[in-house]
Amino acid sequence: MPGFIDGHHHQFETCLRSVLADGILINDGRPESVHNYYELILQKFSMVYRPQDVFINEVFGGVAQIDAGVTGVMDVSQIHHSPEHSDAAIEGLRAAGRRAVLGYFEGWGDKAKYPDDAKRIRDTHFSSSDQLLSMFMGSEIYLPGYEKAWKVGRELGLPIALHVVGTFGMQPTFDALATAGEFGSDCFFIHMTGMSDVAWRAAADAGAHVSIAAPIEMHMRHGMPPIQKILDLGMTASLSSDVECTMTADMFTQMRSVMTLQRMLANELALQGKDYPKLMSVTDALKLATIGGARGLKIDGKTGSLTRGKDADIILLDATALNVAPLNHAAGTVVTLMDRSNVSTVLCAGEIKKWRGTILGHDIGKLRSELEASRDYVFAAAGIAQDLFRA
Ligand SMILES: [Zn+2]
Repeated sequence: MPGFIDGHHHQFETCLRSVLADGILINDGRPESVHNYYELILQKFSMVYRPQDVFINEVFGGVAQIDAGVTGVMDVSQIHHSPEHSDAAIEGLRAAGRRAVLGYFEGWGDKAKYPDDAKRIRDTHFSSSDQLLSMFMGSEIYLPGYEKAWKVGRELGLPIALHVVGTFGMQPTFDALATAGEFGSDCFFIHMTGMSDVAWRAAADAGAHVSIAAPIEMHMRHGMPPIQKILDLGMTASLSSDVECTMTADMFTQMRSVMTLQRMLANELALQGKDYPKLMSVTDALKLATIGGARGLKIDGKTGSLTRGKDADIILLDATALNVAPLNHAAGTVVTLMDRSNVSTVLCAGEIKKWRGTILGHDIGKLRSELEASRDYVFAAAGIAQDLFRA
């Protein structure tokens, strides 16, 4: 089948895997929310990253997803603290060896050049469309001065990507942009939780893309994943792994989460004797995880389906394995039974990256040591004690 496409993934957090396994987005005042995403990950850990931390986190996160059959991704690393950090992120994406969109998002500190460095980055690294990497402009509407980021992105011809989350109080700003006619087919909206019907209609009419991270949205209180809204409006959509500090980045988890959620909501209506929407099928889920992501990232001319003329981003899955044999239904086997252990072989643009269970071209032991060293530095610099058995 075609390789999976992950709509958005914060790869810089690879060394922070599961540090926020029980976490929610922001502090709601309860004792268990003292460790929350906004304060711990964004305001503490992310502040101390050096360019070399960015690099190894990007490489490891990328190789780990190649291992899981994810041949394309948008990396959203809010870690552009200096041009050197940005270059390290891009070199890390390149070194991993798969298709990737750099989501050029914000950074912090005196040396941060966001969003003004966008032109240099585009001209230096993305002057050719004949490569595995491309670029989107991060344009977060919860940050002051977001209008400039939108302007810079559009002047440079870069698609606009942003998180749209009701939890952060974004609805009034989002509504204002909707009614001002600012939405376009160049917009990539992440989550779209807690938004008004007016904004949804404007987004659909504009041909904007929505990427949902169902497990993360349910786990971390972003709000109800808007899968039914997307289906009702007939929008193009994709699945996003989002953050590995809280949830795994494989697409099997993504597909099963969104499919069981949609069917649970519809089935509950059916049980109540009410009208209910069409149940999502395994083929629908598979499309979200492949061609849906490719369309959102504007790489569907090259990938996202097994089509003559596209690049060979292809994965081979083992249908003889103990957890899936005997093979009775191809799409059903992938979506309802398989996991990353079934990903046998992976090709990106015709190059073999994983062969019969083994990653090629990377020394995994060396990468892991470097990632652990980065983790140790990041924890120490942020003043956070490592604790394997934190309650
Ligand atoms: Zn995100």
